[in-house]
Amino acid sequence: MRRKFIKFFSLSLFSFILMPYKFIYAVSKKIINQNLTDEQKNILFNDGTERPFSSSLLHEKRDGFYHCANCDAKLFSSNSKYDSGTGWPSFSESLPGAFKTKVDYSFGMKRIEYHCSNCGAHHGHVFEDGPGENGKRFCNNGLCLIFKPLN
Ligand SMILES: [Zn+2]
Repeated sequence: MRRKFIKFFSLSLFSFILMPYKFIYAVSKKIINQNLTDEQKNILFNDGTERPFSSSLLHEKRDGFYHCANCDAKLFSSNSKYDSGTGWPSFSESLPGAFKTKVDYSFGMKRIEYHCSNCGAHHGHVFEDGPGENGKRFCNNGLCLIFKPLN
């Protein structure tokens, strides 16, 4: 009897502690696409990173646009895509206003994180060793993108 009570008590305490977290999570992150997988949600809303060389978009060379997997906003044109050799889909520039950035100090490194201006979902990091005129390299998780070919 006592044991059951303790078990019940600890379980309720646990869900009570989690409740505000879940609530804040749901309010601050706008999950628009209800079909996102857990892995996509972990990257988009928990600043996760997919395994390098795992994205099917790495070798995508068709003309088209890359959209946010969460909110469908247009983020990159295929014109700016290039093979950086890093194992993540890479772009020399984003479409105007597609992203907002913030400084990320995780893993003891100073990096610039960028997220979708429309829905706030995390997409990747931008570095200063790109091939274009502005020298940018957008290192994007493939799972955060949906490619829509022009033809
Ligand atoms: Zn978005």
